Amino acid sequence: VPVLRNIAMLYQCRADGAQADAHPIPDAALVYQGETIRWVGPRAELPGTWASLPEEDAAGGIVIPGLVDCHTHLAFGGWRAAEFEQRILGRSYLEIARAGGGIRSTVAATRAASTSELVARCHRHLDGMAALGVTTVEAKSGYGLSVDEELRLLEVYRAVGAERAQRIVPTLLGAHTIPAEYEGRREAYVELVAAEMIPAAAERGLARFCDVFVEETAFSIEEARRIFGAGLAHGLRPKLHADQLSGGGGAELAAEVHAASADHLERASERGIERMAAAGVVAVSLPLASLYLAQPPMPARRFIAAGVPVAVATDFNPGSAPSYHLPFALTLACSLQRMTPAEALKGATVVAARAIGLEREIGSLEAGKSADFAVLAAPTVEHWLYQLQANACRRTVARGSSLVAPVS
Ligand SMILES: [Zn+2]
Repeated sequence: VPVLRNIAMLYQCRADGAQADAHPIPDAALVYQGETIRWVGPRAELPGTWASLPEEDAAGGIVIPGLVDCHTHLAFGGWRAAEFEQRILGRSYLEIARAGGGIRSTVAATRAASTSELVARCHRHLDGMAALGVTTVEAKSGYGLSVDEELRLLEVYRAVGAERAQRIVPTLLGAHTIPAEYEGRREAYVELVAAEMIPAAAERGLARFCDVFVEETAFSIEEARRIFGAGLAHGLRPKLHADQLSGGGGAELAAEVHAASADHLERASERGIERMAAAGVVAVSLPLASLYLAQPPMPARRFIAAGVPVAVATDFNPGSAPSYHLPFALTLACSLQRMTPAEALKGATVVAARAIGLEREIGSLEAGKSADFAVLAAPTVEHWLYQLQANACRRTVARGSSLVAPVS
């Protein structure tokens, strides 16, 4: 049972209170035993029973809950740097997609990759995320687009998760795009996802969520309704890619199906925002994708003002967001979306945990929750997100195990 001390400021990030209230505790201490937090509070109030325990030194840094990246496309083959250049030269994401590039080229590279190669790539990405303070990662399939290939990606996540202290939360995204072999037969592909892919993934316990890319070039509201209906019938909660490149009722649909989250939402309607607030759907902002696509970001302030909690995630994928740097995404949420640093921090901890249904286990530093935290070399969260260092994270602990060792 160690006691972590010499903490300049600890941010509890409890679910209660406004998103702007990260519950900072100056000169704090944190006690954890095995995988569980036992006590958190001002060091001066540390109960006598804990006072004589071995100490760990936070070196005067700040302590935050382990970061939760609640939207990634973690397993994929290849990269798309050439497409990055094409976009710089003026071709739009939709033009590239219509010309057979985009997601479909990653589908081909992913299908061609061996399972051990995909596992090794996931581990490398997750090591990089751990170094940044990320302890939980939602991971979507979606580059397989056949029953066997989608299940293979979810099995990659299961294998990777079994070997790490980081939590991997799997989402079936069979409805990412229509695969080339179903060109002109979209109804048949929707039926494949609803009637075969979802039951197979659910039966093997390989996914917690069912995601649909609701977009002009991907799936319609009606098709998404059919897929979410099948997902719900098999115990998979809905999540949506919604209102990103074109606004089309995605936010409204998220409220209608009581989705855990609706993600992107750059072009969500006012009515959609109100309905999400009433239905308790978390909005997930993905500012790295807005940056790479040079598009206006999701209007986070409108969501927060309407009472919708806003999570911030990376959308890590080889096309529109080829970076898993969640702290950078938080800095973008501050500067581009006018979220305060405390709002951004809660967006990548307790609110992100809610977006993946884990708010009772992770996302805040409270007795009884998982011992997931990060130590950052910064005096405050405001300073951390303002001065973008190569990496301010000095130590990452997930389920009580050090992923990144303390710097002596
Ligand atoms: Zn995405």
